[in-house]
Amino acid sequence: MKRYDIIISGGGMIGSIAAVAAIKAGFSVLLIEAGKMKKLNPDSQRDLRVSAISWDNICTLKDLGIYSHLLAARIQAYTQMKVWDNRATNHTTAKIEFEADFSQQQCLGYLMENNNLVQAAWHTLKHGNNCDFIEENSIKNIENDGLQIRVELNNGDSYKSRLLIAAEGRNSFVRKSAGINIKEKPYGQRGLVAYIKLEKAPAETALQAFNDGGPIGILPIENNVFSIVWSLPEGKHSHWLNCSKLDFEEGVTQAIAHDFGAVKLISERAAFPLTQLDAEKYFLNRIVLCGDSAHGVHPLAGQGVNLGIGDIKQLFSLLDLNILKDQELLRISLRKYQRRRISKVKETSQMMSLLHHLFVDDSHIKKPIRTLGLNLLNNSPIKKWFIQQAGS
Ligand SMILES: Cc1cc2nc3c(=O)[nH]c(=O)nc-3n(C[C@H](O)[C@H](O)[C@H](O)COP(=O)(O)OP(=O)(O)OC[C@H]3O[C@@H](n4cnc5c(N)ncnc54)[C@H](O)[C@@H]3O)c2cc1C
Repeated sequence: MKRYDIIISGGGMIGSIAAVAAIKAGFSVLLIEAGKMKKLNPDSQRDLRVSAISWDNICTLKDLGIYSHLLAARIQAYTQMKVWDNRATNHTTAKIEFEADFSQQQCLGYLMENNNLVQAAWHTLKHGNNCDFIEENSIKNIENDGLQIRVELNNGDSYKSRLLIAAEGRNSFVRKSAGINIKEKPYGQRGLVAYIKLEKAPAETALQAFNDGGPIGILPIENNVFSIVWSLPEGKHSHWLNCSKLDFEEGVTQAIAHDFGAVKLISERAAFPLTQLDAEKYFLNRIVLCGDSAHGVHPLAGQGVNLGIGDIKQLFSLLDLNILKDQELLRISLRKYQRRRISKVKETSQMMSLLHHLFVDDSHIKKPIRTLGLNLLNNSPIKKWFIQQAGS
């Protein structure tokens, strides 16, 4: 039976970046992905799922050697953010605006299709040694005797490792089979994603408008092409998923409510349920959770992948081969990992909930506060938080 230092279940963005980080840290790795890697080339149709990766995490991708494998034609830097509230009485000044601190960063971050990032990480792995891949298969059974992990796959093959990382997204099988419970709180919204063209919009600028029902994020992808994430109340989303192209364009124009010229829908549409998810613990014996398997936050500040990359950085700063071999040292490291990451995720979730309640929830108590407008918040901790997250 083949042995590895680390087995990673889930080869999405977080699992594949974790595999690269593990190899760089000197571990042998088996990466198991239930799906099949989708090939992306400059002419492929765009992946509807797009992520904003903060500058700090772009630097991490560079350090790991992943950045150079991204399809350069399919990434877009953004240097500014403009956020406004369409419902505030003083709506022309109700805004938060900020730009990159060019003394410390080249931009606030990059926007890229999720597939592009996954493919780049897999390319990086294939250029190195010490990593085996299994696609279109998954773990059926896990034995964890405290000293090592034995996994059996659906095809009957078995492997052993000292650590099993679950990076399987929200519905993690490994998390469930370890008996780690989660708290899940629906936001009562779906995130509708699509690509649009705007006739005239500021270059390299990520835009977000708050409306009754939810915010719309408008993220630059290339000249005049934008990926949108439109948070819509559960139930109403199906109208905007299925309505005619013209009606959709009219709806988006109203949701943006700024003069960026004509809106053109240029892709399919898809919608994802939005829920906050918190695993009650991030490790159990030799099993550890990363990315959406451990936590899920509202996409309104684009923090999901960024938090997952933060998990990976933290985890591998606390591990080496001697620690993996020693049960007590491993427990101490994983406890530190859990404490630090739960605290970071809590801070992010609380900020998301605050923004959600201030700008999405329509209760009468909050309305007067909200209508004071984002301009009052322009010098507040919320703005500082937005800037910090964009950079870190
Ligand atoms: C509408 C929307 C917009 C978003 N925008 C942003 C953004 O701008 N910036 C940002 O940082 N985040 C964003 N997010 C969040 C981000 O998409 C997630 O945080 C991110 O996808 C988490 O990555 P992951 O690798 O942990 O999980 P996933 O992306 O869910 O990947 C999990 C992988 O594991 C595989 N898998 C599942 N089960 C198994 C199994 N049993 N065995 C083996 N493999 C398995 C899956 O096939 C998949 O490849 C957004 C989310 C939504 C819904």
